[in-house]
Amino acid sequence: MTTIAENLATIRATIPDGVRLLAVSKTFPAAAIRAAYHEGVRDFGESRIQEAIAKQAELADLTDIQWHFIGHLQSNKAKKALTHFDWLHTCDHLALAQRLDRLAAELGKSPQILLQVKPCPDPDKYGWPLASLWPDLAALAQCHHLNIQGLMTILPLGLTPAATRQAFQETEAAAAQIREQFSPPLGMTELSMGMSGDYPLAIAAGATMIRIGRGIFGDRPPLPSST
Ligand SMILES: *Cc1c(COP(=O)(O)O)cnc(C)c1O
Repeated sequence: MTTIAENLATIRATIPDGVRLLAVSKTFPAAAIRAAYHEGVRDFGESRIQEAIAKQAELADLTDIQWHFIGHLQSNKAKKALTHFDWLHTCDHLALAQRLDRLAAELGKSPQILLQVKPCPDPDKYGWPLASLWPDLAALAQCHHLNIQGLMTILPLGLTPAATRQAFQETEAAAAQIREQFSPPLGMTELSMGMSGDYPLAIAAGATMIRIGRGIFGDRPPLPSST
């Protein structure tokens, strides 16, 4: 059986400096997060707010963790998400961004935000199709309480390596184009893309954050499908 430490060593040997490794700890207990923390991991990704809050309480002594929300963000959970996470990777439509902006002002927060995009059509995923992001950028640039740092993508299952590479490259190209036109305030220097199965292709295309769960912690029990 490989341990978290061994898995991390293996993955780190393959990622260049400057690529941030997010350990996706959803479904794994606080003890697993603590083990990864002891190996130097400081960025953790969670996809359910209540589950994350419970683990954060158990890990309150680890004050320099950066918590990343990577699940679908419902509008009615926006305030909780802002309160409990440093980064929100899944801002997926303009009204949500504007709500986060208003709430961030009220709460005195200045959150790090990524815009979730879909480089390939995928009815099962949230996010802006790349072409639909353009008309919203001027309004996004007016969300002064958000630090909109870049794009995030989750690819559909079952793409070929060539299609995967192309989707990552299109995401990177979109970020570069937005940067040219809208930076500042839309810095667009971060690209959250790549998971256990496809992260080398994401890094080759310019990912700055990779989100690895199973590759670090091992297989997850299947999630209930109704949520
Ligand atoms: C679960 C999850 C991951 C990690 O997936 P693995 O295959 O376990 O590496 C990455 N990103 C998102 C958005 C996820 O929900």
